[in-house]
Amino acid sequence: MKIQGRALLHICCAPDATVPWKELLDSGMETVGYFYGSNIQPENEYKKRLNAVIQLSEFFGAPVLIDSYDPLSWLIKLKGNLYFPEGGVRCALCIKTQIERAAQIANSKGFTCLGTTLTISPHKKPGLINGIGRSVARRYGLRWIDVIWRKNNGFLRSVEMSKKLGLYRQNYCGCILSIRGEKNGAK
Ligand code: SF4
Repeated sequence: MKIQGRALLHICCAPDATVPWKELLDSGMETVGYFYGSNIQPENEYKKRLNAVIQLSEFFGAPVLIDSYDPLSWLIKLKGNLYFPEGGVRCALCIKTQIERAAQIANSKGFTCLGTTLTISPHKKPGLINGIGRSVARRYGLRWIDVIWRKNNGFLRSVEMSKKLGLYRQNYCGCILSIRGEKNGAK
């Protein structure tokens, strides 16, 4: 992959970021991570995931921007759509909320490209994610890094690399609703 510019990479969790972040850095692209995290509950789980993201950032020697932890703002964004099943409207809105926030930050800090690690997960819909990403990025004058990271065994490679680095890996997607029995968002 050869994309020119400065990229902000939205990171959903450290294990999912292993392969995308490495590939973007290996391509020679200046790539800064961005961790949203306000969709993650409870707070001690958020802290475990945050620490893993910081661990990965240190491993790569690449910076990461950490947003403030504000689960209430996430709940307000999703208000009225919380009880849709996982994988439906709720998740689409959650993904849009995260990517939109990443785009605002990318735009304000002079990045030219925006991407997400979300398309590495076998539990997520890459077409939906990249569709949201393209549309949000266009509005902010950014180039969307239109990659399905799970291709070429991306997910398997991310599992292996996470194990090697001893990264914390969660067993549910993130929000309180995903804790309650629906494990198909786990990464
Ligand atoms: S299951 Fe995951 S993607 Fe869906 S709303 Fe919850 S945190 Fe967001």
